[in-house]
Amino acid sequence: MGMPGLIRILLLFWLAAVPPAFAAALDADNTHEVEVRVVADAPGAAGETRLRIEGGPVQARSARLKFELPATGDKRWVLWLARDPLDAVTASGGGWTPPQAGFFRVPADGQAYQGTFPAGFGFPLPRGASGPQELRLDLQGSVRAAPVPRVLSEQDVLRYVGRETALAVAVYAALATLLIATLALYSAIRDPLFLLYAAYVVAAAALMAVANGHAFAIPGLRALGARGLWLAMLGFNAIALTTLLRFADVRGSGSPLLRGMDRLAMAMWALLLLPLLPLPAISGGLQAVATGAWMLAMPVAAWATLDGARRGIPMALATATALLALFASAGAHEAMHRGWIEDGILARHGYQFAVVLVSAILFVGMSSRLALVRRRLDDETLARRDSEDRLRFERLRAGLAQALQDELRTAPADEIAPHAFRLLCGHACELLGIEDAVVLGNGYLGNELLLAQSSERQVSPLAQAALVARNIVRLHAQNRGPVHVRIDGALASDDPRVPQYAIVPMRLPSPAWAALVLRVQSAQGLAEGELDALAELARIAVGHAGEAHAAIQLRKTAEYDALTGSLNRRSLDQALAREFKPSALQAPLSVLFIDIDWFKRINDEHGHACGDHCLRSVAATLRAELRPGDALGRYGGEEFLVLLPGHDAAASRVIAERLRQAIESSAIDWQGMRVMLTISIGMAARRAGDHQASALLERADKALYAAKHQGRNRVCVAPAAFI
Ligand code: GH3
Ligand code: MG
Ligand code: MG
Repeated sequence: MGMPGLIRILLLFWLAAVPPAFAAALDADNTHEVEVRVVADAPGAAGETRLRIEGGPVQARSARLKFELPATGDKRWVLWLARDPLDAVTASGGGWTPPQAGFFRVPADGQAYQGTFPAGFGFPLPRGASGPQELRLDLQGSVRAAPVPRVLSEQDVLRYVGRETALAVAVYAALATLLIATLALYSAIRDPLFLLYAAYVVAAAALMAVANGHAFAIPGLRALGARGLWLAMLGFNAIALTTLLRFADVRGSGSPLLRGMDRLAMAMWALLLLPLLPLPAISGGLQAVATGAWMLAMPVAAWATLDGARRGIPMALATATALLALFASAGAHEAMHRGWIEDGILARHGYQFAVVLVSAILFVGMSSRLALVRRRLDDETLARRDSEDRLRFERLRAGLAQALQDELRTAPADEIAPHAFRLLCGHACELLGIEDAVVLGNGYLGNELLLAQSSERQVSPLAQAALVARNIVRLHAQNRGPVHVRIDGALASDDPRVPQYAIVPMRLPSPAWAALVLRVQSAQGLAEGELDALAELARIAVGHAGEAHAAIQLRKTAEYDALTGSLNRRSLDQALAREFKPSALQAPLSVLFIDIDWFKRINDEHGHACGDHCLRSVAATLRAELRPGDALGRYGGEEFLVLLPGHDAAASRVIAERLRQAIESSAIDWQGMRVMLTISIGMAARRAGDHQASALLERADKALYAAKHQGRNRVCVAPAAFI
């Protein structure tokens, strides 16, 4: 059973229990009452049936009560006063002196009709008394009251006591039920307003217990006397106003005056200090202060809740109505104590019922906050999870960017894309907490078929599935955003056991394409946020790969000859300079000067484009014949320079001959034509005493000249004479 269900049952229980108590109370008749004539000693009270005590300093009132008891045999009559806040009530007459009673004290032993919840002051008259009677009644008090002395049959007194006890118990029980239910709600959803409301219920119960006099059975409170009354009243007033203003959410009100009512509540709290001050002079004014505060706070609370009703606060209208009833019944109570209206059950207890009614309605209104509060808690949880996810993603993103930056810098051009995408796969797996992710693509940065995977395995099952479904992947790789698809041919199904795949396209310059492929375990697929995060990671990987590639290209244009792809003149000079560093001077080094024979004719006969093509082709052939440590560069025009570090003259000669033969034997294809070329090579080896590259180059150049002179298509070695 949910919390609202519990509330409904409590409310039903309540509605079933309280009205019968009312009905029983209203049923009381006064058929066994004897008319009492009051002859007061004090001025102003003569002829009235009431004995008035005005609020303020302690007053004493004495009266002679005259009445005639019918001769009813054994019937017992009781002098009875309802339980008003009188300090002392004493009755006496003709040797009859029952024990003194009082509101702020525990009933004395043997005091009749007092019970657990005393309902009034009762003095049983001597059994069998009949005929004209005259008694003396002495009252003492400082709280406004207008007690009515009555002589009732004992049967009626017992009925009255029973009724009052039932009502008091009903009120206390109702408030206790509300308190327990409120604390249960608070423990469930931890909304501080429930705590405030719980305090309000406690204050209401305290006010009831003090106003009924029951609280003064507690020894510590007895000493407070009338101050206890004002304290309870002001305390309830302050907390009720605070709770109702919060309940009505006045901060959201359109009325600035209402929004400022928090200050009034604060003032009400400050008033609580008054009864605590040990100043006797204040005690007279306290009653006026407490009554005034109450009469101010209740209409303000009603106004606030009415305003709240307009703003759609649940149960606010009912609360406002109940508050008006409370206001009216509190007024009736005050009027009764001033002697303006009759002492009856509604005048005496109406405000207590109204307080319980307000509390119950307020409770129902508050419990409908459950849904609101739960939604707020859900929102908070979601927001927290969201920000945690975002933080995790930010870390992952920064990690990927850092890894790409660190690792792509040193990667060779053809390794850039695979490497970047492998890192992407790893980070995608980390993001989703999965084992395997694959990038499949084609044509990016010179990579024909591109397959990167996070898994260490040779080709993971996911990679295999992606390869088999290459066409589907390619299709979705050209989409704008990520999609969920089945690439394994399974029929569309929500069965979570049927694997589903997510394809996240990477934005590559056409016609290249690539996509991140993941296997998704849940039937719902990945959340939109996850797909967005993957797309972002993919974007970063592509961005870094592109930059790294561009950096390599830039380096190439600075170091290489654009036409032939061999080193340019500047790089050749740098390479030579390195070989002529003092520390490198002892190592063998040879250079080959290569010039294409009769090249001018190629240009003349077939055009410059053919000449360029031949230059590229010759460079490629030469490069294919050389080893990694060797350097091939275009020295200018159709002349190449080869550096052979670590090779002496004999070894270099062999290499030179091999190069010459390679060119001679390779036919260049130009628009279906076979173009044959030869080259002349001048070779020179470093000798001891060569401290400058220029000397070596000069000898090689001269050797080339000799090769040309001797008929071309040959290798000439720089003779010793040139040293
Ligand atoms: P040989 O060296 O055998 O004496 O005769 P050759 O005709 O090759 O003469 P030389 O080396 O002096 O000629 C160089 C020619 O190479 C001149 C120019 O037309 C051509 N050449 C130089 N650089 C380029 C180039 O970048 N592209 C093309 N197509 N031709 C070039
Ligand atoms: Mg030349
Ligand atoms: Mg030439």
